[in-house]
Amino acid sequence: MQNRSNVFQVDFDAVEKEVRAFEQQQADELGIESRAQKHWVDENPRSFTKSQRETTTVLFGGLTMMQDAFIQAACSGIGYRFQALDVPDNAAMQVGKEFGNRGQCNPTYFTVGNLVKYLIHLRDDKGIDTQTIIDNYLFTTAGACGPCRFGLYVTEYRKALRDAGFEGFRVLLFQSGGGINQGGEELGLSFDKTFFRAMFRGIILGDVVNLMGYRLRPYEKHAGEVNEVLSQCKQRLIETLQRNENIISALKACKKQLLSIELDRLQAKPKVSVIGEFWAMTTEGDGNYHLQKFLEQEGAEVDIQPVTNWTLYLIWAQLYDARLQFKLATGWKQKLKLGKFILLLKLANRVMAMWFNRYAKAIGLTDYHLADMQSLAEDSHDFYANELRGGEGHMEVGKLIQAVKYKKAHLVLSVKPFGCMPSSGVSDGVQSLVTGQYPDANFLAIETSGDGAVNVYSRVQMALFKARQKAQQEVDDALTNCGHSLELARQSLAQRRGVCGDWMPDHVTASTAANIVHTLLD
Ligand code: SF4
Repeated sequence: MQNRSNVFQVDFDAVEKEVRAFEQQQADELGIESRAQKHWVDENPRSFTKSQRETTTVLFGGLTMMQDAFIQAACSGIGYRFQALDVPDNAAMQVGKEFGNRGQCNPTYFTVGNLVKYLIHLRDDKGIDTQTIIDNYLFTTAGACGPCRFGLYVTEYRKALRDAGFEGFRVLLFQSGGGINQGGEELGLSFDKTFFRAMFRGIILGDVVNLMGYRLRPYEKHAGEVNEVLSQCKQRLIETLQRNENIISALKACKKQLLSIELDRLQAKPKVSVIGEFWAMTTEGDGNYHLQKFLEQEGAEVDIQPVTNWTLYLIWAQLYDARLQFKLATGWKQKLKLGKFILLLKLANRVMAMWFNRYAKAIGLTDYHLADMQSLAEDSHDFYANELRGGEGHMEVGKLIQAVKYKKAHLVLSVKPFGCMPSSGVSDGVQSLVTGQYPDANFLAIETSGDGAVNVYSRVQMALFKARQKAQQEVDDALTNCGHSLELARQSLAQRRGVCGDWMPDHVTASTAANIVHTLLD
């Protein structure tokens, strides 16, 4: 799902003004009489004032379960009634198809249907009358003006809500800003520093907790232990966020619990990098056939894409555009304005990375490196122009190249929603060229349509077979190099002090077990 936040927005009003002036000048030169056009505008109801805050529940969702829970807690810690929707399931998709337009991409049906399904549940199962739902609930989501269908999501929500009998239900976009100021009354939802701090706290916390889980779970000695500890950590962090207290000591307490889990990291597990369309690779439900869970059940170590990477990409894209504009700018005033904007973006980039690293360190997620956006852009630009936006842009291409080049994964799975324009072009088109030039790539694009699980699982299992062989080969080679047996390596590892869940071996190859052997025994 393409998601171009307007947090770091270029001044579109100024651009629009300039274009209008140019249009007028051309019309005058050609002697064309300009006619005032009346364009269609979706009259999206957006009234939400501070006085309604106490009685209004703000619905939201769409990230991982961990992130949704943390955002809900962080926003309640600053005085909002936020409620995360459940992870969208196939029933939600069917509701989306029933009330949505034809020809939408798959995440639209899942996410729009999920909201409508919940409102129907409130009305039909909980017995809340429709007007009370409209008055006391609203939905907030990210907005965009993207080249793919994401730009139309809000209109799609409106259409489905109207047809399902919820005319007047409010859908607010994060970018709505002043548009929801009501007759001078203070806004119900202030998209200000406090609000965005709470949102990013939830997002980054969710990332570091999720990443810790994916790092430890494949190697736990006692099945289910990591999830058990993670759910206790989740509760601890939720309570801390609800009280709006310092999160670092809560993270340190989680670290202590997580590092006490017994691991056997010398198992030759295939590492699988899950990339693709943003929503499809992030959701943890029917929207991608529970892919992450399926992979772990099949014995893989899953390399997920943190949501923080996505925010870094948004910043990078703004920075890229601003630098081009700077080159084209003529007047010093414009250059000065753009220069300040570029500095602000660089600062934002730094702050995000520092914020992430601080939380990562506190929970024991050592040696985790967020994607370097500039190197992703450079590695991919021969195959996919960096100026193209929509979906993941060039990121998907760059991630595949880097997975092969830097031996990051034994298998790269690209999750492509049915009907997704950018992802289809990349997964089926551009990536074929990439795999042609990088023959070592074990790449598989899977399409998620909601009803093709058996087909997808079987294709993933075939690709995993090859990945498992690669992982085993890497471990065998590492043992041959150092002249140890696996048992000796295990004994040697057990005697090392300080080697637990937060210790990471040097990166030599994709396999964690092989890296441990290289680092400790070579
Ligand atoms: S990136 Fe693809 S799936 Fe996501 S909103 Fe755009 S068209 Fe739909």
